[in-house]
Amino acid sequence: MRQSQLFTKTRKDAPADEVAKNAKLLIRAGFVDKLQAGVYTYLPLGLRVLKKIENIIREEMNNAGGQEILMPSLQPKENWQTTGRWDTMDDLYKVSDSSGRENALGPTHEEIVVPLVKQFVSSYRDLPFSAYQFQNKFRMELRAKSGILRGREFMMKDMYSFHRDEADMEVFYEKMKGVYANVFERMGIGATTFLTFASGGSFSKYSHEFQTVTPAGEDTIYICDKCHIAVNKEIIEDQNNACPKCHGKNLRTETSVEVGNIFELKTKYSAPFNLSYKDEEGKEQTVVMGCYGIGLGRVLGTVVEVLGDEKGLVWPASISPFNVHLVDLANTIEARQLYDELVAAGVEVLWDDRDLRAGEKFAESDLIGIPIRVVVSAKTIESGKLEVKTRATGEVSMVDRAELFKILESADSRLGRCSKF
Ligand code: ATP
Ligand code: MG
Repeated sequence: MRQSQLFTKTRKDAPADEVAKNAKLLIRAGFVDKLQAGVYTYLPLGLRVLKKIENIIREEMNNAGGQEILMPSLQPKENWQTTGRWDTMDDLYKVSDSSGRENALGPTHEEIVVPLVKQFVSSYRDLPFSAYQFQNKFRMELRAKSGILRGREFMMKDMYSFHRDEADMEVFYEKMKGVYANVFERMGIGATTFLTFASGGSFSKYSHEFQTVTPAGEDTIYICDKCHIAVNKEIIEDQNNACPKCHGKNLRTETSVEVGNIFELKTKYSAPFNLSYKDEEGKEQTVVMGCYGIGLGRVLGTVVEVLGDEKGLVWPASISPFNVHLVDLANTIEARQLYDELVAAGVEVLWDDRDLRAGEKFAESDLIGIPIRVVVSAKTIESGKLEVKTRATGEVSMVDRAELFKILESADSRLGRCSKF
């Protein structure tokens, strides 16, 4: 894409009321716009990142056997009364229309998915299965000061699994731990993200959160480096201040953000809706459930918090809006040819074809954070080489075209399971 065609622009300053690093950088770089506290628009660059995150999650959920659906946001009050959450959920947005009918704006979808699958499940032969969606959630968050880490309207992947008994659910639940680890690894935050033991509430011993270490977080976790797992604040005392795996007491305390979680729901939502099946003996049994969430905007914002530096955003190759930022300083046919060649090879290129000073173009390129910058200038044309800069390390080298393609291929293989880079 030609940068001259991009309708958005970078900005010198973020809005004065924005305190979070993720939102400040994303607004300045032209990735998001703030409509009101906790409510953001994704602009062309930001949406490309969000869609890449979505696609990585989609691949992993499909591999785990999940079937994608899309459920509505506008949800009848009656469904929420069935579980009691119409009255107990503090952050529920309630809307009424001119006919007096009341609805919830979905903060989560157990109240919708359970009556939905009830229509299709009658026998043990119909189980197990899992269904998931990418969908906007609405929550009246009191603290909306963390930029896109805590939205009042935000995109979530929510998956629900349905099983004949707890043993079957637990097998799937264990598998999802690995699936989630893959997701965060592929997004460049694997090393700083910890499987975290959390209290399971009244119906199971543990739930598990995936917590990424960053000062921007609102949570505190206690990490066992030996086991690469953590415990959250609410259960650390129940754990006798020890690692639940090796029982070691050498835990380090960190501030973190919850990027995902998995929960054994058991029969908490299937029971109120009478979601049941007939077992082999023809006996009616309640379906056992699990649920698995990831906040897409929260992951995006977390990547910014963890990897962003004083110059701006730094994208991992797998979720960068473009693979290459081609900065054209000479307005030459060479840049156009290179652009066409890269695009023909399937490389996503943002081509800065604007008539601006080199310094401005470089500063903007650093702010936008595409992993590889290629400069075409009078100097590079004369030498027959291209200047390549790696955004994350700042490393600069002069390479020929063949070497550039090799660099791009190796970016691909370092994150081997990503479709392209
Ligand atoms: P938190 O404790 O941070 O409020 P939660 O326990 O309410 O999170 P869930 O209801 O389990 O979160 O939602 C699943 C996932 O959705 C979370 O792990 C997080 O990644 C994301 N998420 C939750 N609330 C928000 C929000 N307000 N904005 C963006 N993402 C969110
Ligand atoms: Mg919450």
